[in-house]
Amino acid sequence: MADDGVVVASAMDFAQAVDGTAAPREVLESLSLIDLCYLGFDGRRHRGQILVHRELAAEIREIFARMEQWRFPIAGVAPIVRYGWSDEASMADDNSSAFNYRTIAGTDRLSRHALGRALDINPRENPAVYPDGRIAPTGAVWRPGEPGTFTGGHPAVLAFREKGWRWGGHFDHMRDYHHFEK
Ligand SMILES: [Zn+2]
Repeated sequence: MADDGVVVASAMDFAQAVDGTAAPREVLESLSLIDLCYLGFDGRRHRGQILVHRELAAEIREIFARMEQWRFPIAGVAPIVRYGWSDEASMADDNSSAFNYRTIAGTDRLSRHALGRALDINPRENPAVYPDGRIAPTGAVWRPGEPGTFTGGHPAVLAFREKGWRWGGHFDHMRDYHHFEK
């Protein structure tokens, strides 16, 4: 905990935040590591970090600030290196993150996360639901109206869409309620 009463959820430097990634140099050079404050589910103010494409840093800062004003709780915000670059482990811990040099789950295509152009928030409250009924993270349930949960009419979803982001809850092939991309 810091002196100002903020719970520090992540305090890496850039080299730590990209340690061990397979991303090429030009991708790494396009990323920014940003500090963000948010309301935790414990009702306290937390400070975490997101690694994201630098063109999107200002928009993410602005929307996080608004989510804090709306008292929208967020479970955790740390670069995914903390989870050994495992999307599964990060989701299981309900961690919110952006950059991860990886393919789209179940395919060999690079994800938008690989360029820092996708952001996942509260995956446990907002799981990915596949057409075969599989849910990630395992055991998660989407309960619209519960704290930290997105719906199509949620002000955070509207704020992202206003800035030209797509919400995964609107995908045709699956529902990815925690996912935003631009
Ligand atoms: Zn995602």
